[in-house]
Order: sequence, then structure tokens, then C-alpha cells
Amino acid sequence: MSHIFPRHTKQLPPTAVRGEGCYLYDQDGKQYLDGSGGAAVSCLGHGDQTVIDAVKAQLDSLAYAHTGFFTSEPAETLADLLIKHAPGDLDRVYLVSGGSEAMEAALKLARQYFVEKGEPSRGRVIARKQSYHGNTMGALSAGGNAWRRAQFGPLLIDMSHINPCYEYRLKHDDESPEEYGLRAANHLEEELLRVGPENVMAFAAEPVVGATSGALTAAPGYFKRIREICDQYGILLILDEVMCGMGRTGSLFACDQEGVSPDILCVAKGLGAGYQPIGAMLCSRQIYETIENGSGFFQHGHTYLGHPTAAAAGVAVVNAMLDRNLIPRVKTQGDTLMAALEAKFGQHPNVGDIRGRGLFQGVELVADRATKAPFDASRKIAGRIKTAAFNAGLICYPMSGTIDGQNGDHVLLAPPFIISDDQIDELVSKLSVAIDTVLQS
Ligand code: PLP
Repeated sequence: MSHIFPRHTKQLPPTAVRGEGCYLYDQDGKQYLDGSGGAAVSCLGHGDQTVIDAVKAQLDSLAYAHTGFFTSEPAETLADLLIKHAPGDLDRVYLVSGGSEAMEAALKLARQYFVEKGEPSRGRVIARKQSYHGNTMGALSAGGNAWRRAQFGPLLIDMSHINPCYEYRLKHDDESPEEYGLRAANHLEEELLRVGPENVMAFAAEPVVGATSGALTAAPGYFKRIREICDQYGILLILDEVMCGMGRTGSLFACDQEGVSPDILCVAKGLGAGYQPIGAMLCSRQIYETIENGSGFFQHGHTYLGHPTAAAAGVAVVNAMLDRNLIPRVKTQGDTLMAALEAKFGQHPNVGDIRGRGLFQGVELVADRATKAPFDASRKIAGRIKTAAFNAGLICYPMSGTIDGQNGDHVLLAPPFIISDDQIDELVSKLSVAIDTVLQS
């Protein structure tokens, strides 16, 4: 009898005992190809000796020191490393233990910034439908996935949710992708004018939407127009790169490929690559200086802020990505994965869209390609694909509710950056078996 409170009380998982490269092994020796890095976490694969050694060495010298009393060498090094490569004028790093914590810090910092700047009416956040920003109350309030929010409604903070940038479903036939990108971005301005720009503090978005939308990239020009609107109305741009950042899309920061830089940026997942729980919120020099010259104190904090062992893992992970040239590899292996998905599913009657960037790709499933009609939600297509793939020895990340939190299904793929061509073939062929097994039953 287990005393663990599992994710699903009726689907008890096997015990993972070992990881090596792109594979995980359970207690019976069964091998699983990690086609989604768990949830876009294991970017270096499993058992990376360099990172393991860095964590062990840090434990030997200093495991933990509270940031109320000390800074630490690995935390300082990680902050320097992130800022050295960060876009725009991001200048300060707030190290936390995961993605939700990074987003909570971002939301609270945005609010405190405006209070200290003398604009206390600014308290509202605008985010997007079908986004995911985490499961803590602030992050969940920013997220726009109806299913995840539903039962917690009474606890959530009132925020605005504009339509996502979702070319496959929302672009009109007579619009170019650029025209659509502009129209989609202008929803932000419409909402700002509706609620009064003087009441708004920030717009939050994932540059490439992950868990809830299946590697949804923005239309060309979308983020440039978003940045313009934020500047025009004096609101902060918070980019959530918890899933799509840290090399996942082929650049260390996903927004580099959009040609914009945010005021606040959140990363996690790939930063620790699964070796330690770590996340980070990066903010601009201007935001930092406002606090520095104001109260001097960000009224926030957690016990494990700037955890030295977690930071040491982060340093080793980022250095591994850079030293081993893994980010260019994300592009080449991403192209190989996209080509393999196109070859296998390009003509599949139930695959409506194949999308993504780098090693962050998604397949959207439909009942009818011509009309783009989704499967009836009661068929629970995504959940069943997850099970069928797992049985076949493939870990992937399917999710239902792609369109509106209830309807639509997709499969998200985010394999380790070290994935080989043969392993890409294995991934796509096992996924194909899983999808066909479910659709034929
Ligand atoms: N933001 C995004 C874009 C995510 O994908 C996630 C997790 O999937 C989070 C935030 C929350 O991160 P965590 O689960 O580490 O709290």
C-alpha cells in the first residue's frame, strides 16, 4: 500500500528506477523512449555525468544557505550566465524552484513595480485563453485553460484573457499570416481600451504555447506588435518561457526568434533539466532600479530561493548546452523530427496540423481534416494516446481541450536535445502505432 498521493488515484504508475540518455527504465526493466522529456524538462537526457558531478560537488561544499543571510557562488554564477545571454536589458535574476514560482514572482514584481513607480491603479493582468502559466493561484489565474481553472474559480484573481494566436483555427482564409498576426495582437489593444489602460500592469504570454496548445507558434509579426502595444500603453511584457525556453526551440531564449525582449522573463524546466528543481525570473534593469531606489525590498520570497545545489545544476546544464553546441543541434534534430512527422502524418486523415519549432513540436488531431472538427470530447482521445504510447514504450505529452479547454486533442513532443536520428524514427513510429490503435478502437 503506497502512501503517495498520486496524480490519478485510479492510474497508478510504474516505478522509475533508472535513466540513461533518451531512455527511462521501470522496476521491471521495461524501456521507455522519453519523447517529451517528461514535460519538456529532460533536455540533456538522463544520467548526464557532468551535471551529476556538479551537483555532487556542490553538496560536498555547501548544500544550502538561506538567501536572507547569504548569497552563494553557484547562484551568482548562474545569474551571470543567464544575463550574459539574455535578450534586451534583462539584468537581474530571481532564482526559484520551478515554473509556477517564477510566474508568481513575475506577477508580484510587476505589481510592486507600479506601486513604487507611483501608478497604483495598475493591477490588472491580461493573458491569453489556452495558455498555461502554472498551478499556484496567481499563475493559474493568468492561465487561460478553462478545464484547469474551472473548479478553482472562486479562488482565482480576476484577469483578462484574450484570444490566443492560433493560425490553424483562427486565421481567416482571406488573411495572410502577417495580417492575422497583426489582428491577433490587436486583441490586446482592444482589451486594454475596454478595461482602461491605466488599470493594467502587464500582458503575459508563452512565446510558443506548450502543454495546453501543443507547440503553438505565433504568426509572423505577432510579438512585435504586442511589444509595441505594451510600450504604447506603458504595460509590462511578461514572457513565460518555462516550457519553451532554455534552448528548446533552437535559441537559448525562445523570444530571440520573435525579435522582441520582455520586461520580465520566466524560465524553469530545462534550466535544471530534471537534475534539480529550479526556475528563474529575469527582470529588466529599469524594474530592478525602481525597487532599488524605492523600498529596496521585493516583498516576496521562499525558503529555497537561490538554492545553491539547484543553482549548481543550472550552471552545469546551461554550460553543457553551450559547450556541446546543443542549441544548433536542436535546430537540425528539430528539422529531422518535423520531416519525420510530416512523412508519417502529413496525409493522415486525423492529423489536422503539425507545428512547432526546434525540438518542441505538436500534432493536432481532428475527426475531419476538411472541416477541422475535433473528436467528441467523450472519446478522451489524448488520454488514451498517452496510455497506448506508454504501453508501447514511448513517453509523449498528449492533452485534450486544445481548442477551448474542452474540445480538441494534441500530442506535444519535446525530446532530449541529444536525440539521434534512429531515436526520432522510433519516436514517430511508436507514436503512429499509439494514435492508430486509439483511433481504430
Ligand atoms: N509556465 C509554463 C509555460 C509551463 O508549461 C509550466 C508547466 O508546465 C509552468 C509555467 C509551471 O511550471 P511548474 O510545473 O514547474 O510549476
